[in-house]
Amino acid sequence: MKYWNTRLKKMAEYIPGEQPENLDEYIKLNTNESPFSPSPVVLDAIKKAADASLRRYPNPTTMSVREAFAKRNGLTAENVFVANGSDEIFTLLLRGFVDPEALAAFPYPSYSLYYTLAEANGVQYERIPLTKDLDINFADYLKKRYALVIVCNPNNPTGRGVDLGALKNFAGKFKGLLVVDEAYVDFYGETAIDLVRAFDNLIVTRSFSKSYSLAGLRVGIAAANADIIRGFIKLKDSYNVDRLAEAGALAALADQKGFKYNVGMVRDNKEYLEERLGGLGFSVVPSKANFLLVRHPDVSAKKIYEELYARKILVRYFAGAVQSEYVRISIGTMMELRALVKELEAIIKGE
Ligand code: PMP
Repeated sequence: MKYWNTRLKKMAEYIPGEQPENLDEYIKLNTNESPFSPSPVVLDAIKKAADASLRRYPNPTTMSVREAFAKRNGLTAENVFVANGSDEIFTLLLRGFVDPEALAAFPYPSYSLYYTLAEANGVQYERIPLTKDLDINFADYLKKRYALVIVCNPNNPTGRGVDLGALKNFAGKFKGLLVVDEAYVDFYGETAIDLVRAFDNLIVTRSFSKSYSLAGLRVGIAAANADIIRGFIKLKDSYNVDRLAEAGALAALADQKGFKYNVGMVRDNKEYLEERLGGLGFSVVPSKANFLLVRHPDVSAKKIYEELYARKILVRYFAGAVQSEYVRISIGTMMELRALVKELEAIIKGE
């Protein structure tokens, strides 16, 4: 740490879920990826892009994806920014959209990278606790003049969604930048993207990492008014999205059949898991995402995490208030979920 600056020394680190080297030995239900492969059409497009053209830089603003995404969502390319994962969008937001004297607010618990990036960029922020039912109370965000609020909808790690009417009402009253992180919206959620045209302070972010089965490709999207998008473009690295990612994202947007097929399977498997966990006495937070936040009356979350880990099943356990009472389980394949249920049954019986 000798050469680190003071901010770097002080900031809390973002700790991602384990990504083991020997992936085949584990059932991996800890980082909300899709358990299903991208469709052959998408894989072919990526393979095709791996040719001699890789010697050239990609399009600096990933225009093909901006246009395709805009068309699908009734926007124009000027309303769309393509990023190296939606994480890059949060980085740029905290780097360039909040003044040093201003204050941001994020719900807690939520996606902890928001807090990490605020600290990394010297942005002051408050964590606003969710209600007892793990929901957002929008009135909490109107009590002060916050310059930036990120609402994760559906929220990670709770899976809870916000009511679109309440969100719209809030967007009309809130004076700062309102970001709606829709990384998980495709599974069950209601999107706020149609509100982008009405509210010039609204940014909606999307990810190809979950519903599009492309976490390894790193593509995210922001939709907002043209002025905000110009800000992102000014701030970003020169070529932030590579040629393979552009080709894959474009093919994935075009292949709605493959997309819907994968999302449908995740939804079916989620129903199965919810039912089986209920049968084992777990309480399951009603989720609109591809993961479940669960706890058991007789066995602590930490113990469940550790016991599963010892059996080579990875789920997510978070330290900290409220969330440490739960484990978060990403929806896997049917085979993975059956193995998980079998092990959970044994853990509960003390076997
Ligand atoms: N938002 C939320 C709420 C997430 O959970 C994640 C995944 N960890 C992301 C954004 C990041 O998505 P991406 O892979 O597009 O950077």
